[in-house]
Amino acid sequence: MIIRTFDRSTGTWRSHVLPADRPYTLGPTAALIPLGDHRYGGLASARLRVNGEIVLPLRVLEDRDELQLPGEVPCYVSVDDEPEVVPFPGGVGPCRCARCGAPITPGAPSVACPRCRSWSHQSESRPCWEHAPSCPTCSQPTRGGAWEPDPVAWMSGGERGDDDA
Ligand SMILES: [Zn+2]
Ligand SMILES: [Zn+2]
Repeated sequence: MIIRTFDRSTGTWRSHVLPADRPYTLGPTAALIPLGDHRYGGLASARLRVNGEIVLPLRVLEDRDELQLPGEVPCYVSVDDEPEVVPFPGGVGPCRCARCGAPITPGAPSVACPRCRSWSHQSESRPCWEHAPSCPTCSQPTRGGAWEPDPVAWMSGGERGDDDA
């Protein structure tokens, strides 16, 4: 899962991949904690621990949830990880490319779709992932174009800090 925070200096959204093995601190009183299986929980008052462990109240986060601390610009979570070319890890038996149907051998440059997790080749000789605008098996765009929150949604509600300095 990805968290998107708004960078006022550039007027763009920044993406951070949430770590799968430790909490992501959102501020002094909130944290996002990994729940496994690509899910995260949002936790307020994270300073409270019982027997050394973080406790409820906890809310399981879903795609495109908005998170806001008092006085802060909202940030958002989404499941749109950036597609990344990696050596195919293998390990779970034969795997066929979702685009061309040919086997993907362990170590071959390939992409796991961030949304549906299907694998496609991605190299100069077999550019299967980028062969089309979207994933072979779902609607995930293959280049850029991942979902971004709309900054107007919160800027119109309160301060409007645009200056050209
Ligand atoms: Zn292929
Ligand atoms: Zn997909």
